[in-house]
Amino acid sequence: MHMVRGRLAPSPTGYMHIGNAWAFLLAWLAARHEGGQVVLRMEDIDPQRSRPEYALALMEDLRWLGLDWDEGSDIGGQYAPYTQHERLPLYQEALQSLQKRGLAYPCFCTRKELRSLAGAPHWGDAGAAYPGTCRGLSAAERQAKLAAGRKPALRLLCPSEPISFNDALYGAQQCCLHDIGGDFALCRSDGVVAYQLAVAVDDYAMGITQVVRGQDILVSTPRQIALLRLLGAESIPQYGHIALLVDEQGERLAKRHSSLAIRYIRQQGMTARQLVGLLACWAGLQAQPVPRSAAELIPLFSWQRLVRHRLSVPSDLPSLRAACGLCTG
Ligand code: GLU
Repeated sequence: MHMVRGRLAPSPTGYMHIGNAWAFLLAWLAARHEGGQVVLRMEDIDPQRSRPEYALALMEDLRWLGLDWDEGSDIGGQYAPYTQHERLPLYQEALQSLQKRGLAYPCFCTRKELRSLAGAPHWGDAGAAYPGTCRGLSAAERQAKLAAGRKPALRLLCPSEPISFNDALYGAQQCCLHDIGGDFALCRSDGVVAYQLAVAVDDYAMGITQVVRGQDILVSTPRQIALLRLLGAESIPQYGHIALLVDEQGERLAKRHSSLAIRYIRQQGMTARQLVGLLACWAGLQAQPVPRSAAELIPLFSWQRLVRHRLSVPSDLPSLRAACGLCTG
């Protein structure tokens, strides 16, 4: 049997908050519970939003939580580099190969959603389906647009057969890419590579066998599976999409919830054991928010026990401390 290889794939676009910590803890536990390896990949292809200081802060926060990795952007490893902006030639190679095989085509439409495609689309981000405008352009029409100075994006010619996979938490999934937006963008007209392409290239190239991430990214998984297959992957990873944490208004926890930033919580005196114990209790891995280290939770991890529904959690520190059974003063 092959070794499980999981990954932590943060985007260094802000400080880590509780929602990220929750996803990273569960991804780490899923891999370590199987005796697997953990890869840290820095997903910084969005040039407008990624900052090196956030990457450093993310690693510091991961270590504070007690999460470690066997290969990664700071320590290297067999599949280095592990920072996406250093992997651009690999993405270019994949794009060229897809285009050469007629599996990707230039798209001259200027669409708003192309602006944000370097970030993972999250819950509520789904744009309108691409109507396929540039799919059928003739070689002459493409040439004419290029000659007129138009810079194209690149889209995948989506396969029409349904994509199925078995999610570790939500079971059998099946969908047709045409029902979830159709031909999706692989690269922006200014050359910025899309999240979907970078993730598929990297998961394949880094031998990732287990992908654990938030349920909001489940909608991207069929796209990534289609790409993995077209890139030549013989097997696809085991996917597990975990329930989202939301605030009292039902909004996904995000970097704007600055009071839930891990470094703020830490500065205010909460310990990693307290936070990890609370996250494990929310996850269903222990009945009470007993303080625990991440390593102590490895034997307790089980997909069967994990919570499946969205969890509304406190979005301020006093309520968080109260949830841990700590004095709020
Ligand atoms: N870098 C992505 C994010 O932070 C996660 C991508 C993934 O796990 O596939 O949203």
